[in-house]
Amino acid sequence: GTDRKRKKTSPQKLTFEQIGGQDNAKQELMEALDFLIKHEEIRELGIRPLKGILLTGPPGTGKTLLAKAAAHYTDSVFVGSSGSEFVEMYVGVGAGRIRELFRDARSRAAKENKQSAIIFIDEIDVIGGKREGGQQREYDQTLNQLLTEMDGIYSSDSPRILLIAATNRKEMLDSALLRPGRFDRHIQVDLPDKKGRKHILELHAKNKPLHDEADLGKIAEESYGFSGAQLESVMNEAAIYAMRDGLKEIEQRHLSMSIDKVMMGERTDRESTL
Ligand code: ATP
Repeated sequence: GTDRKRKKTSPQKLTFEQIGGQDNAKQELMEALDFLIKHEEIRELGIRPLKGILLTGPPGTGKTLLAKAAAHYTDSVFVGSSGSEFVEMYVGVGAGRIRELFRDARSRAAKENKQSAIIFIDEIDVIGGKREGGQQREYDQTLNQLLTEMDGIYSSDSPRILLIAATNRKEMLDSALLRPGRFDRHIQVDLPDKKGRKHILELHAKNKPLHDEADLGKIAEESYGFSGAQLESVMNEAAIYAMRDGLKEIEQRHLSMSIDKVMMGERTDRESTL
């Protein structure tokens, strides 16, 4: 429908500077992306073009943000999707959607006058899970279609297409996806360390009034094991606590309380799914 289209075509202005921590992932990703940018050189040297990058790591660490920043960095159109969009009851529907995804990427690049398109597939494991013991599933056709489309990406094609996929269960992926010429570049996106957490907190504090004595370094220390998404919640919850107190600035105690709240929230979420 038009809603889905609009979500996909929303302008992507996200840059690597807006992503906190993840220094290694950013560095590795930018290096890989230079393959897309230096396309002519790559071809002259006879290097196989890079077709797929796999981002692996826990939920909420910024994989989607990295893919969007990659599109900005390479001046590509960004076409986002998720593995679950391709799982359908009826055989062939998922495969058709994969075809549509690539068609969409090509036509949008043409329309927006871009040389390249980045297709992002979140939760790739949903369609690319291991096929065990020759077991056939209704969405094998979907995976096969994806492999076919990837094999059909040529270096001379205009626009050039790069796939970026994300998963938090790399070990679940079918080896066909990981072969050379497919998703053969892997980048680990880990939970942020203390410095990374501080950076992420600072980014999400930018549009929020912090009290002079609020110390994000300390909050970074107290939020060991938190993902970027959880840290975003911490900042947001803290602002809500400040509002409840009728204050115009976020104080340290609001931030500390939010850490507990986000931690508790996660726990009850997990318990309820057990
Ligand atoms: P999932 O595996 O659940 O799809 P993800 O790794 O793709 O997660 P994102 O969707 O990129 O995670 O992040 C979700 C939200 O969390 C972002 O919109 C952002 O607000 C915040 N966030 C996550 N990581 C970072 C980061 N490194 N810097 C800044 N914000 C972050």
